[in-house]
Amino acid sequence: MAVAIRGAGIAARACAHLLANAGLPVSVDPVARAPVPTIMLGDPALALIRDIFGQPGLFADFPRVSRRLVDWGGRTATVPHGGVLLSEGQLQAALPAPASSPEGAVDFTIHAASSVPAGTMHVFGDRHAMAARVMLRDPASAREARIEAVADGWLYLVPAGEGQGWLLGVGAPIDGLLGGSALIAPGVDAVGAASTPFPAAPRLHLPMTGADWLACGTAAIGFDPLCGDGAAQSVREAILASAVVAAIAEGGDRAALLSHYQSMLIATMRRHLLLCAQFYADGGSGDWWRGQHDALMEGHRWCTGLLAMLPEPRFLLDGLRLVPRPVAA
Ligand SMILES: Cc1cc2nc3c(=O)[nH]c(=O)nc-3n(C[C@H](O)[C@H](O)[C@H](O)COP(=O)(O)OP(=O)(O)OC[C@H]3O[C@@H](n4cnc5c(N)ncnc54)[C@H](O)[C@@H]3O)c2cc1C
Repeated sequence: MAVAIRGAGIAARACAHLLANAGLPVSVDPVARAPVPTIMLGDPALALIRDIFGQPGLFADFPRVSRRLVDWGGRTATVPHGGVLLSEGQLQAALPAPASSPEGAVDFTIHAASSVPAGTMHVFGDRHAMAARVMLRDPASAREARIEAVADGWLYLVPAGEGQGWLLGVGAPIDGLLGGSALIAPGVDAVGAASTPFPAAPRLHLPMTGADWLACGTAAIGFDPLCGDGAAQSVREAILASAVVAAIAEGGDRAALLSHYQSMLIATMRRHLLLCAQFYADGGSGDWWRGQHDALMEGHRWCTGLLAMLPEPRFLLDGLRLVPRPVAA
């Protein structure tokens, strides 16, 4: 079964790698988009990527953060936090997509880029993010990430090497958010213009499968950047998507496998919405925080309703393969 993969991100690369390893002919169309300026891979995400790509030393000599400073809803804390910092370009260079072989008929397409053939993106909240490069005033902050809730949104600062950092602002323009900041504003000087706004509310594309396609990565579900788990989530989706496609190629029940994929991703989104709702309940008490929290909870109820209409999961992952789940008598 020949598989075409659309996408330039980590979801597309993980699918290509896993399906090529499973012996399927794969072609990749690296759909162009603006690169993500910076990604922090927490240690669990890094371990997952190393494992999947069989590269145990991946990013071992990249700059690391070792702690996170938090000021959220009036509570402050410094917590240990391990992870590496890299640009998306560095991630892509380290995980090359296999050489394309687009000739011949395609039996199945994985859309790991926007423009999925059918369906609608459901968005749970109304907020955008902007990123801007900043100078760090204190060299000691080169190994720490900072996150802070303010009246109309939140700020997230990660170091970027050479005394610089990337500042992410969610909910309002960065200058306005910095005006209410006690943790981050005193430690940074602006150097670059803010990026164009990009979506920061959780989102779910439905349907995310068709008879001969599925959506994967951010094209299927997008996480709130608050969770810092977007890259790992895209890899987890790629593992499941690749297992579904490999099982179809082996003659498995196509409709049941695709339905399983969609159910698992709706369940993932449902968990994510509840996790986010707790953070937005704690972050502030103003209208902006209440509105975001309520939209997340409404999305959580909606996902609960969707799952209630879907069959019990019939498969489970055994390593990288999907196997039938034993049915309770
Ligand atoms: C500024 C920023 C900082 C981030 N920081 C982290 C982090 O620290 N840790 C982490 O795990 N994840 C982070 N993420 C999320 C992470 O980059 C994505 O979850 C991951 O790259 C998705 O991989 P994918 O293969 O699904 O990519 P894709 O589907 O190719 O998407 C990659 C990114 O590009 C965006 N995108 C896709 N298509 C378009 C389009 N047409 N127009 C505009 N944007 C588009 C997506 O929303 C996504 O953020 C960050 C994202 C951004 C934008």
